[in-house]
Amino acid sequence: MDTKRRETDVQAPAAVPATRPPEMSPFEAVNYFFDLAADHIDLDDEMREILRTTYRELRVQVPVRMDDGRLVVFTGYRVQHNGARGPYKGGVRYHPDADLDEVRALASLMTWKTAVVDIPYGGAKGGVQCEPGILSQKELERLTRRFTSTISYVLGVNRDIPAPDVNTNAQTMAWMMDAYSSRYGYTPAIVTGKPVELGGSYGRDAATGRGVVYSLREAARDLGVDLQGATVAIQGFGNVGSWTARLIGEIGCKVVSVSDVRGGIYRGDGLDVQALFDHVQESGTVVDFPGVDGITNEELLTLGVDVLIPAALSRVINEENAGTVRAGTIVEAANHPVTPAADVILAERGVNVIPDILANAGGVTVSYFEWVQNIQQFRWEEQQVNEQLAKTMARAWQEIYARATVDGVDLRLAAFAIAVEKVSRAARLRGYV
Ligand code: NAD
Repeated sequence: MDTKRRETDVQAPAAVPATRPPEMSPFEAVNYFFDLAADHIDLDDEMREILRTTYRELRVQVPVRMDDGRLVVFTGYRVQHNGARGPYKGGVRYHPDADLDEVRALASLMTWKTAVVDIPYGGAKGGVQCEPGILSQKELERLTRRFTSTISYVLGVNRDIPAPDVNTNAQTMAWMMDAYSSRYGYTPAIVTGKPVELGGSYGRDAATGRGVVYSLREAARDLGVDLQGATVAIQGFGNVGSWTARLIGEIGCKVVSVSDVRGGIYRGDGLDVQALFDHVQESGTVVDFPGVDGITNEELLTLGVDVLIPAALSRVINEENAGTVRAGTIVEAANHPVTPAADVILAERGVNVIPDILANAGGVTVSYFEWVQNIQQFRWEEQQVNEQLAKTMARAWQEIYARATVDGVDLRLAAFAIAVEKVSRAARLRGYV
């Protein structure tokens, strides 16, 4: 990969560096965006040092007895980035790439995300390096219980509260809650994203996708993007991608392409998203849905659509393909889908990028509502959840847009600047520095 810095011949918008940054690891990339914000707000060196590094990193051995009798030892992580604004909060992902650097990056993003939507949490993330697709349900259950017990002493209702992320779901959270509760007593508020039957919140399953749709609706209004009949391509059809696809019609958009790990599909007249969802429940993939054209994941990213929504993994839009993206608006439903080098290229080309720390914050927002309901032992109606989510996303967007306009910076830098200010103020008030 070409890591040389190159001069660009296009006038960069204010506060966008005139040179392209090299490609970097996920944690380096999050700190790159942090550094831009820290420079922008003139943050002092002591606070920078605290916020560029993580508070606590736990690496654990997760031995699991397989169904065939073999013992396989997995590696798991829980990283707590910053807790100045409240208990650590963040998902748990099961994926072969879930190494320490990626988990650090995702933990740091959670710190900034919870600050952007102004919910009283810090940032954390967890991961187990594994290939969950080849594990049976029983193996996944044993892995989850073992991982939870092993990290349980850094968890707590007022200390650190996990949630689902890539390849984990409400069932995973049920096992986590049960494993924690068997040691410490019944504790529903120890995880969020639980099944409704076990104290989960109405609306949590859909919340991240719903938040993606709300953030696009708010942004489009201010940025002058017409969403009536706008075409949308979504990479990833898991929790976030499929809910985004199912809800985005409510704001006038038409989904023409989606994909999953096995490939993508395209239909210019629009996909019947509910039929596709039902199909995926049966077959496990989008690729064999009838009446559509097959495309690759790479082709999906460069389709001539109005809105592109990466909702799978990180770094999918990078220096190599950013110049070929044709969508006018990108909504970052996934965490860190756009690398710093790609971010500069997209800015040069005038593409609107709604940053992950706003766009996918609906999930953690409703996780917060779930935690509040568990502590209050009082369930909210789904309508109340969705209305509060809409208000939270709209308020966060307005703050970011106003800041971007006043400071003459892009949306990501505005979002990071707001977040870094909030976290550094809290850290100072608590006497961390
Ligand atoms: P998920 O496991 O439910 O779904 C992931 C989807 O991505 C699946 O359709 C999978 O097939 C697809 N995928 C996996 N590898 C791929 C590849 N190489 N190319 C194309 N598609 C691929 O995960 P999710 O919970 O929907 O999370 C998706 C993204 O959203 C992640 O970046 C996650 O961190 C972020 N996110 C999730 C939540 C949440 O509440 N679940 C909240 C905030 C952010």
